[in-house]
Amino acid sequence: MNRREQLADRLATLQARIERACAQARRDAAEITLIVVTKTFPASDVRLLAELGVRDIGENRDQEASAKAAECAGLDLSWHFVGQLQTNKANSVARYASVVHSVDRPRLVAALSRAAAAAGRELRCLVQLSLDEQQSDQPGRGGIPPAAVLALADQIASAPHLQLTGVMAIAPFGADPVPPFARLAEVSQLLRQHHPAAGWISAGMSEDLEAALHAGATHLRVGTAILGDRPAAG
Ligand SMILES: *Cc1c(COP(=O)(O)O)cnc(C)c1O
Repeated sequence: MNRREQLADRLATLQARIERACAQARRDAAEITLIVVTKTFPASDVRLLAELGVRDIGENRDQEASAKAAECAGLDLSWHFVGQLQTNKANSVARYASVVHSVDRPRLVAALSRAAAAAGRELRCLVQLSLDEQQSDQPGRGGIPPAAVLALADQIASAPHLQLTGVMAIAPFGADPVPPFARLAEVSQLLRQHHPAAGWISAGMSEDLEAALHAGATHLRVGTAILGDRPAAG
């Protein structure tokens, strides 16, 4: 099997998983967006994915993402930034990304708003929630506590060139994802009471997408199940 066939095969397997989970949750699989997270994999893979009908690509490091987005210009892809973002990278990210999933502090909102204005673009922003009870146990995964979401959301909603679009979370590593994803769904519901257009729930990765779909995820971020194992620490 060549790489194209391998990716086609894994995409089909993943689509079947999504359809099965949606059927069980009485949801419409056509309303789910699959974002393929291509971090550590080459632009040639992104090109093959585009040929196979993928439109949404996720990346978690600006340096890698900006280079890949430039190599893949003209393929009509939407780039999703899903990683921890330093404010000094905001200008770069705003030039290629359509969506930033990892907005987790006021200074980043201000930096992204200025960067989007400078790039002459509109940027969708998701508030990243921390679903860890002991947040300090897992530094570097990002996110804010549920109680802080509304204040940050209000700030995004009133920032020029930013569109408040929803919430994002990563389930705590090695734990049952059902309770944290239920919490995420509650926070999303609360957010939509104040900001009805902010309906995206970005949740669910290779290992836990069924639980995320049951909890109402609208956008899955899947890497390994399609591209294969990443080199260690990817
Ligand atoms: C790498 C990554 C993913 C994809 O994870 P897999 O387990 O490979 O599917 C999803 N979300 C974020 C934020 C990531 O960094």
